[in-house]
Amino acid sequence: MNTTKNKSLRSYNTFHIEQSVETFIEINHENELLKLIKDKNTFSKPIYILGGGSNILLTKNLEGILLHNRLKGIEIINEEDEHVFVKFHSGEIWHECVLWSIKHHLAGIENLSLIPGTIGAAPIQNIGAYGVELKDVFHQLEAIHLQSGNRKIFNRIECQFAYRNSLFKTTEYKNYFITHVVLKLNKTPKYKIDYGDIRKTIDEDFQGEINIQNIAQAVINIRKSKLPDPAEIGNAGSFFKNPVITEAHFLQLQNNYSSIPHYPADNGVKVPAAWLIEQCGWKGYRKNNFGVHPKQALVLVNYDNASGDEIWNLSQQIIESVSQRFNIQLEREVNVW
Ligand SMILES: Cc1cc2nc3c(=O)[nH]c(=O)nc-3n(C[C@H](O)[C@H](O)[C@H](O)COP(=O)(O)OP(=O)(O)OC[C@H]3O[C@@H](n4cnc5c(N)ncnc54)[C@H](O)[C@@H]3O)c2cc1C
Repeated sequence: MNTTKNKSLRSYNTFHIEQSVETFIEINHENELLKLIKDKNTFSKPIYILGGGSNILLTKNLEGILLHNRLKGIEIINEEDEHVFVKFHSGEIWHECVLWSIKHHLAGIENLSLIPGTIGAAPIQNIGAYGVELKDVFHQLEAIHLQSGNRKIFNRIECQFAYRNSLFKTTEYKNYFITHVVLKLNKTPKYKIDYGDIRKTIDEDFQGEINIQNIAQAVINIRKSKLPDPAEIGNAGSFFKNPVITEAHFLQLQNNYSSIPHYPADNGVKVPAAWLIEQCGWKGYRKNNFGVHPKQALVLVNYDNASGDEIWNLSQQIIESVSQRFNIQLEREVNVW
């Protein structure tokens, strides 16, 4: 267990925001976490759990303790006729887990290739891309309560997965440190290639040959062509969720904006936040060292040395202008610390 005082977090968040934390503790083994919990004084201060830092915006120096998840390991724990249950320790890098699955001929997460971060954070917002969400292959997770040290298993229903949401986004359950995630992967693939440009890319790059490896590579190629690489430009992917509005509200908007893109959703109509932001003129906006990406209106960027406050203020301006023009309240997908 490595502990550092007043550590800079610039290289621990993909926005590359310069803020620090009072106490930074690297968790390499569950026992280290349990030992900290036994020492009651440790957690009398605020606690933050950090994976890859690809879904946070730092707006202040953090007082208290930051636990950096480094729990590693992958085990097959059960097998049925059609499925294999794989237990991933939560500090494993998500994309490495995708590559591991493909190497073992296990299907289900190939469409989620190249999403940054750790597998332990994947259930928090039920990561999703290209027509697949974590919940589609999720079996259960194990977590440790940071005050009591109790371990608990949460199954798929208990996690209350929804679009970019789960039980772990509620205040009460933010006190759980997810230590393991068990996925139920498929021996026989069920290909999902009719989303975005997957089919077109497979046709062009792989002569139409459909298998999980080619799907993963197609997704990687598409993502690299569309999304800014955080190693080059600080960002946290989509900053806002796609809003779901009522059917009546949608029809009203469609009267004024006949080309408004939309998708069916469980409880209404989903409208791409990127379209709303673009309509308000924000796409490509730049002020000093921060702005909205010129190719991706959903992605706010730190070109160099911007502060978390500057990016938060920009997000607030965007929320206000979308609200004024469309009467739609955008919600931030990124966790603001
Ligand atoms: C370029 C780019 C593209 C992206 N594309 C997508 C995409 O297509 N789809 C998508 O869904 N997301 C996407 N994201 C967002 C991000 O990759 C995911 O949300 C990812 O799951 C975050 O993982 P992380 O380890 O970096 O989490 P962090 O940013 O470190 O943490 C995020 C939240 O999870 C909590 N947390 C982290 N680990 C644990 C744990 N072990 N136990 C309890 N709580 C924990 C943290 O406290 C924090 O609240 C993208 C981000 C970037 C930068």
